[in-house]
Amino acid sequence: STALVLFRQDLRLSDNAALTAACLAHERVLPVYIHAPSEHSPWQPGAASRWWLHHSLQALRGQLGAQGGDLHLIAGAPLDCLRDLIRASGATEIHWNRRCEPAAIAGDTVLKAALREDGIAVHSHAGGLWSEPWTLATDAGQPYRVFTPYWRKLRARLPDPAPLPAPRAREWLRLPGSLPTAALGLLPAIRWDAGLQASWTPGEAGAQELLEIFADDAVSDYAKGRDLPARHGTSRLSPHLHFGEITPAQIQRTLQDRAARSGSRQRPDLEPYLRELGWREFAHHLLYHFPHTPEANFNPRFDAFRWAETDALSLERWQRGRTGIPLVDAGMRELWHTGWMHNRVRMVAASFLTKNLRQHWRHGASWFWDTLVDADLANNTLGWQWVAGCGADAAPYFRVFNPYLQAARFDPDAAYLKRWLPELASLPAKALHEAWRHPAALAAKGYPAPMVDLGASRDAALAAWGAMPA
Ligand code: FAD
Repeated sequence: STALVLFRQDLRLSDNAALTAACLAHERVLPVYIHAPSEHSPWQPGAASRWWLHHSLQALRGQLGAQGGDLHLIAGAPLDCLRDLIRASGATEIHWNRRCEPAAIAGDTVLKAALREDGIAVHSHAGGLWSEPWTLATDAGQPYRVFTPYWRKLRARLPDPAPLPAPRAREWLRLPGSLPTAALGLLPAIRWDAGLQASWTPGEAGAQELLEIFADDAVSDYAKGRDLPARHGTSRLSPHLHFGEITPAQIQRTLQDRAARSGSRQRPDLEPYLRELGWREFAHHLLYHFPHTPEANFNPRFDAFRWAETDALSLERWQRGRTGIPLVDAGMRELWHTGWMHNRVRMVAASFLTKNLRQHWRHGASWFWDTLVDADLANNTLGWQWVAGCGADAAPYFRVFNPYLQAARFDPDAAYLKRWLPELASLPAKALHEAWRHPAALAAKGYPAPMVDLGASRDAALAAWGAMPA
């Protein structure tokens, strides 16, 4: 018998429930990827995500190719494509891993019903989360809106992780008509992707490599190191998690095994790191239960907030890293160059946009959507609404990050600032942390003056917040 396995945001062979089930039950397995970007409308993958996807598909094809198979790549409406493939392969079953973005759920529901009507057995499996969003509820049976009780419940339920090994099909079926990956047109026409290329290895092997590096070193100092943007103090697994090249269960298994092998005195405390993965789960829980939140405030009170008028010039200065505020500019340039930004700097850059410039958080969310290699509808929505103060369990609005204090505290020798603002590298750290005292020195290096006064713009933001009806 023959089964199709439909790959989507699960571009891995190991710990892949759909693939494993198909390989166990069938002689022949046809792995398929259907390129259908309009399926994700209005959140079609941005430019950096498309770059990643191209390379991740290539990596998966390479893995399957090494076993004599291939990822059958096609573009078009999923139902039509699948019907053609079922006809050509004689498949009687389809397996896939579930997703939880609103558009994806809607698409999968329609697909499942139509295929079942055709007489095809459709099996969906748990995908790349510890816990699917509909499996946790408060004692009153409601979705969670606050992280700490959510995490307490999830943490208590986490089983000892047992990720599945990569399965091997008895026969990987190959059919004619599979497209070359380049035919999907995912790579940019103007090659701005050199920085991405130098920073990342998309695919399952790249994910495992980063996990090894993190487990060897940074995890033991994560609670402190995670806040220092100059260091590789975090795992940088976010794009790999987004594309499903690695799962939380695999990460937890590796870290726990490594910790168990280290002497009891050096045994790292894994809790702070697992808790961050918990935020990812919480973000998916929220997106599932409140599917309107990529566009609308989670807290409707903020519908009355007076944002400043959209200012294309200000937005462009922020996007290009030319605001004149060093930590914001360093972060925005890191993002442009590598497709990633350190979490602390994301918070500072987002606070500057939504509070000091009072531009709507959606402007920031859509720029991040286009430029982040880890752009993720659940995490990006949570991150922006959290900083803007209008989200679930958000930072209180009056918490306005001071980018100078943040830089002095978390980048004391200005190593991060100097890496991303090379024109300022010859200045002493103090000049960068107190840039307002040294306007001439910074201007002489071609660095712009601050586009707003931080104190006055903060006061204006707080006044707008205070004017909101309770
Ligand atoms: P680590 O510190 O190693 O954490 C491990 C994993 O936990 C991450 O890979 C990620 O999957 C998850 N995680 C960590 N912090 C958070 C968090 N605050 N919220 C949700 N999940 C988290 N993350 C994305 O993956 N995609 C986004 O589009 C995204 N947009 C953001 C926008 C804003 C304004 C902010 C403030 C944060 C955003 N984040 C987003 C969350 C966070 O910044 C990144 O997940 C993190 O920086 C990724 O680096 P890492 O893999 O080294 O993280």
